[in-house]
Amino acid sequence: MIEEQLRPNGVTDERVLRAMAEVPREEFVPPEVRDLAYEDHPLEIGAGQTISQPLIVAWMTQAVRPEPDEVGLEVGAGSGYQAAVLSRLVRKVITVEREPELAARAAETLRRLGYANVEVVTGDGTLGWPAEAPYSVILVAAAARRVPPALIDQLAEGGRMAIPVESGRRELQELLLIRRRDGRIFSEVLFPVRFVPLIEGS
Ligand code: SAH
Repeated sequence: MIEEQLRPNGVTDERVLRAMAEVPREEFVPPEVRDLAYEDHPLEIGAGQTISQPLIVAWMTQAVRPEPDEVGLEVGAGSGYQAAVLSRLVRKVITVEREPELAARAAETLRRLGYANVEVVTGDGTLGWPAEAPYSVILVAAAARRVPPALIDQLAEGGRMAIPVESGRRELQELLLIRRRDGRIFSEVLFPVRFVPLIEGS
């Protein structure tokens, strides 16, 4: 995965590559697709949801430049895989999942594998998670119609957020990198992506 999928495709941050190498992806996918865990595409994880393809996880993680003393927020825990990768690079990760069944399974997987600095919470992640805000890093793992204002509010000074947003054109989404610097918000389009929808409300 590291040498064939990630390095040749622009994942150059050694810390991100190390985190991707450390986290056992096969533990985050259902037993019946375990053999496919390292294939270069998303996989079904139940409740109509998917675990993102390794390259997308790596690109998003690299884009937000996580630092060891920072706190990160993820919206859309799914299997818990992305949260596990991010947890190797920051002090603490809060990950919000709206499907209670997925949240429970992700929490159990992370606990079993010893990812003690990840907290899985159930709720509507379009509202962020005010209790631990602000966040230096925010990763949104589902496509939004618009950037949720609560997530901008909860982005720390100097913070970075990666979020896929509907582009208006059918099925096509753009990954945005949003930054807060000197109190101002900057937004940049990174590349086209395809994610499941971010559902507002619970
Ligand atoms: N990061 C995950 C993949 C996420 S798939 C992984 O590594 O496996 C997107 C997830 O976002 C799904 O689990 C879906 O249930 C969740 N989701 C969609 N809308 C949401 C919302 N408003 N708040 C929290 N989670 C949401």
